[in-house]
Formats: sequence, C-alpha cells, structure tokens
Amino acid sequence: MAIDASAFPPATGASHGGHIRLTSHASSAGSREINWGAAVPSHRGPVIGTTGMRAQRNVIGTHSGSYSVYRALAVAAGALSREHRADLTNTAPTDSIGPYPQWCDPSTIVSIDPWGAMIAEAFSAELASGLDIRPTIAVTKAHVSVPEIAEAITRGRLVPDGRVLLPSGAAVVTKVAIEPVWFLPGIASRFGCTETELRRVLFEETGGMFPELVTRPDLEVFLPPIGGQTVYIFGNPTDLANPDVELTARVHDECNGSDVFGSDICTCRPYLTHAIEECIRGTQSGGVGVVAYSRKEGRALGEVTKFLVYNARKRQEGGDTADQYFARTECVAGVQDMRFQELMPDVLHWLGIRKIHRFVSMSNMKYDSIVGSGIEVGERVNIPESLIPLDARVEIDAKMAAGYFTPGPVPDAEALKRVKGRGLTDD
Ligand SMILES: [Zn+2]
Repeated sequence: MAIDASAFPPATGASHGGHIRLTSHASSAGSREINWGAAVPSHRGPVIGTTGMRAQRNVIGTHSGSYSVYRALAVAAGALSREHRADLTNTAPTDSIGPYPQWCDPSTIVSIDPWGAMIAEAFSAELASGLDIRPTIAVTKAHVSVPEIAEAITRGRLVPDGRVLLPSGAAVVTKVAIEPVWFLPGIASRFGCTETELRRVLFEETGGMFPELVTRPDLEVFLPPIGGQTVYIFGNPTDLANPDVELTARVHDECNGSDVFGSDICTCRPYLTHAIEECIRGTQSGGVGVVAYSRKEGRALGEVTKFLVYNARKRQEGGDTADQYFARTECVAGVQDMRFQELMPDVLHWLGIRKIHRFVSMSNMKYDSIVGSGIEVGERVNIPESLIPLDARVEIDAKMAAGYFTPGPVPDAEALKRVKGRGLTDD
C-alpha cells in the first residue's frame, strides 16, 4: 500500500517546518564538552540532552528514557510545544546527597550522572547563560504504606516509633528517581568489549534508532531509552556514606506481576516487603536502610517473554519443575538472564556506600557485582521460609541449586525434579 506523505503534515507543536533535522552530523560545534569523572562540575560539564535547542546538545539520545516516545506523541498531537523550557522553581532535592569521592572516578560510576540531582548548584553559571540543562535525578520525601508492614505490626514484629514507622503503619522515606546516563567508554569496559563494538551493537539492536552511536565518536554520553531506578531510603540519607552506621540494603529488580499484582509464581514482592521490614527495623535501632529498585522487568527480558516462559514451564512434559526452571527461560529468550548486574552497583556508589552490613538478597550475581565493585558486604539475609508463596517453590529451589545464597541445604538434582509448580488449569 502506498502511503501519501502529504497525509502527515508537520505537527502543530513543531516549529521547524517540514524538514527533518538529522542528528548524525556534527552541527553542535561549540557545545559543552563532558569530561566524565572530573572532580569539579564546571570541568566535568553539564549533560545536555535537550531536543529543543539542538546546538547545545552534547549527548546521544534524550531525557526521560523510554518516555521520550510519549513526549513525541504529545508534540505530534499538538499538546506540547518543542520550545517548552522546564520551570524548575522549588524542585530542588529535599535531601542533599554527595558529592562523594566515588563521583570523581570515571570508572566507579558509568551509568548515572552523579551531578544529576544538583544541577542548580553545580551548573548555575551554565543555566544562567541559557543552557537547557535538566535534572536526571530527583529527590523527594514520602510516607509509604504496604499491607505486609501493617501485618508485621499486628504480629508484633515491628513497633511504630513515630519517627521511622508512624502509628498509622506508614514508613517515612526519602525517595530518589534516577534516569540512566551512560558513559559509553566506561560501559564498554564493564562488559569487556571495545567501545566501537558496543556502539555498533547498540545501534543495530535498537533498529538504527540512534545513528550518532556510529557517526559521532566525539559524543561519549548516551541517554538510553530504558527504564531507570527508584531508591527508597529509610533514615538519614547522609548515614549511607558512613560505614560505621549499620546499613540494611536490598537491590531489587522490577517484577510487576508480583511486586504490584501479587502473582504467586515468584518471590519478588515477598522479598521486597521483607527488605522494607528489615530496613525499618535496622533504622529504628540506629542504622539506615536502602532499597534500590531497578526497572528491569522479567530479568530485563520484558514481561511478554516472561509470560511465554511461564507457559512453557507449565506445559512441558512432567509439568513445572525446578530442574527445568532456567532451561525454559533459555529456550525462549536465548539466555537465562539479561539483567547484567555489572551496572547495578553504580547507584550504591552514588549514595556514597562503602559497606553494606546486612544485604537482603539471595542473588550471587548481585553479591558478586557489589563486592567486585569495592563495597564490603557483611551478613547476607535470606527470605524466611514462611514468606515463600506456594507456587514459587520451583523458582527458589532452582535458584539455590544454581548458586544463590542460602544458609540451609542446597537441593540436589533428584530433589529439583520433585519440586513442582501448579499446572495452568489447576486451582
Ligand atoms: Zn517475580
């Protein structure tokens, strides 16, 4: 079917007429350089991913991760002007985080802009000169109420103190939203490939979405169209950087089915709420707690792949058994896991963390990555048996047999065959 181009007039929100502005050639001569890892912000330079002022851009990609596509729809629909400049009055962080020594090492943090929350202070002169610099990190305060914490209070495991845990059952937190900002040379070195290889594969696997990846080696910073992270801090955020204050921590990867909807095939939400409970308890006894939540749905394979795997697990001959748990994922996705925890410790270094006293996780991949990045880990806290949902036994036993941390016995091959999940039509 032939498409009539005249059926697509320039969007009313666009101000540049009908011609397309290619980004793949250097037209931004004079834009500010980024010296990743520089100790002084004025030398490091601001990250400028604006789409409205092209000449200022010094990165590949744009702000808001995957939501940039919705921004395009808003412009296309005439609801948003490309010329809109964010009014950042009163948006400053509620708590100041850093700067910490880790911010000034170009290899310690490669997937976050450490200065992303404090652009008003770090780049005040640049902002005053008219540069369209936007925060990639926002820090605010909240009260969070989850039913599992209310139940912990009812059962006497937690006692409200009016400071960390309110009589209403709500916990008092500082929460931080973080958008990814990738320093490509640093990302390549984490994954053991060359920067050229990384740029080429990113270009090809996004369907050629960002030509500058291959045409603009001078641009070293990429704002990828992926989900970011949210950090929940219990207690004083500045205590996170003090290794003498006991830190309870969990790094959690998104699982919408369990985290939000309570699906019982995995242990994600029970682990998350268990970590919140441990963080509250630790903070009440003079420590500090942190839960870092990453948007890496379904082991970063996405939810469609995840649900396909569920069906493949439950329909295979012999039903859903722990010994076939990882094999079924690999059949559908080609790999068992795409979360690649190599980038995960960046957020901990951004918070200034040097020691985690109580690490609420069974994952050996997370543990190895954190310790390998130079953060000390003390006790490893696993999930209490009573919190494991019935149908999630398959997942947890398969993980323990694969090397996930457990203080108890590791199931052998025969035991894994016996651990069986519910069928698709069982009640
Ligand atoms: Zn899950």
